Amino acid sequence: MSGSESDSGWYDETLYPDVAQRLRMGRVLHRDRTGLQDLVIFENPVLGRVMALDGVIQTTEGDEFVYHEMLTHVPILAHGRVRRVLIVGGGDGGMLRRCLEHKAVERVTMVEIDRSVVDLSMAHLPAISAGAFDDPRSDLVIADGCAFVRETTERFDVIIVDSTDPHGPGAVLFTEDFYADCKARLTPGGVLVTQNGVPFLQPGELKDSHRRLGRRFGDAGFFVAPVPSYYGGFMAFGWATDDAALRRQTAEAIRPRFAAAGLVTRYYTPDIHVASFALPAFMLDALK
Ligand code: SAM
Repeated sequence: MSGSESDSGWYDETLYPDVAQRLRMGRVLHRDRTGLQDLVIFENPVLGRVMALDGVIQTTEGDEFVYHEMLTHVPILAHGRVRRVLIVGGGDGGMLRRCLEHKAVERVTMVEIDRSVVDLSMAHLPAISAGAFDDPRSDLVIADGCAFVRETTERFDVIIVDSTDPHGPGAVLFTEDFYADCKARLTPGGVLVTQNGVPFLQPGELKDSHRRLGRRFGDAGFFVAPVPSYYGGFMAFGWATDDAALRRQTAEAIRPRFAAAGLVTRYYTPDIHVASFALPAFMLDALK
């Protein structure tokens, strides 16, 4: 079992060797190994219900809005004409839910490798997906996302990689071959965005993705947001497209799209959208 439930009723993350966060474990709603991963869902007095996979916090009811709003609204509102979205991973359904809030989006295909994550999230974390799996525009595929993008002939305007970290089943989703296949599945002017770790503690992941994305896309960069339960400061989101103008749009250009979409958000705003691409010096230095 990854992650450790200390005898004092705390959940200790095991992502890093020398620092760790711990969350008090109230009621444990599920703890078992799926066919692929150690999965635990428990209650915490501050964050609400929490899901962890292989010792790493994946999502919490309390702060999921930051991560899911940014990884959907930024690419969809920047692109402006999104009709087809692919989500790779995203088992908890929070990303699916936010994509479907865009009424102009006609179809969201979600490729999740572990059926148990979906089933247990629907059972114990229903507030996160909020019925998204029942939306007729949803298309859930249980498969390896890497194999899916290699084999599908479908095309997408936005691809969102909402994966675990680059170990276990998630490792293949950080390779250049996977990014190349994603590129081939994007429509002209399409955007790939990725969960790309916490740069202060995972600088190697940032550099690797920047190099790999840069070899396949005309414009590869990052945007950031602080996700409280992703310990270590800013979370980085990979950004890759051949249309370099997409990440340089002004808040004035985004604002009418945001208003027209009628989104109700708790983190995302058009100003936050624009500001999220302004990276701190230590990240810029790491990307030189
Ligand atoms: N927000 C989280 C984060 O930033 O780490 C990610 C949450 S979501 C639960 C991660 C999902 O990626 C999991 O459900 C996991 O099963 C899925 N996953 C991992 N490797 C995958 C693969 N190769 N293909 C499809 N889904 C995968």
